[in-house]
Amino acid sequence: MIKLKKADLEKMIAHAKGCLPNEACGLIAGTENNGVREIKAVYLLTNTDQSNEHFSLDPKEQLAAVKDMRSKGLTPLGNWHSHPESPSRPSDEDKRLAFDGRASYMILSLMERGKPVLNSFRITGKDPKISEKEQLVIEE
Ligand SMILES: [Zn+2]
Repeated sequence: MIKLKKADLEKMIAHAKGCLPNEACGLIAGTENNGVREIKAVYLLTNTDQSNEHFSLDPKEQLAAVKDMRSKGLTPLGNWHSHPESPSRPSDEDKRLAFDGRASYMILSLMERGKPVLNSFRITGKDPKISEKEQLVIEE
């Protein structure tokens, strides 16, 4: 299970809309206890690909975010990115580029403009890689 605060979800949605027509991306960090992940920080990073179909995290911003996580005693939990025109599930490219079976891969779909959809996945295995949806709880 992974928990996200509503205010953080709104922050992600605002960033994703601001990055249209391109994909937006970022990192998530927090705590993990008995399989329950709690997101305590959402980082909004620059998509250096400037593409609506894929993303690369800006390496300098990534380093700064990891330093910030360490200074706050937070665990890196994974990353998030938006899908401007496609559903909230990993694309073949997303699966291909996913190398960390312990990371949560969150995907925010803006396909239905008035109704953003966020899901979280674990991506594991090799040839083929399997994506499995995690239980996501949005908290006030
Ligand atoms: Zn994607």
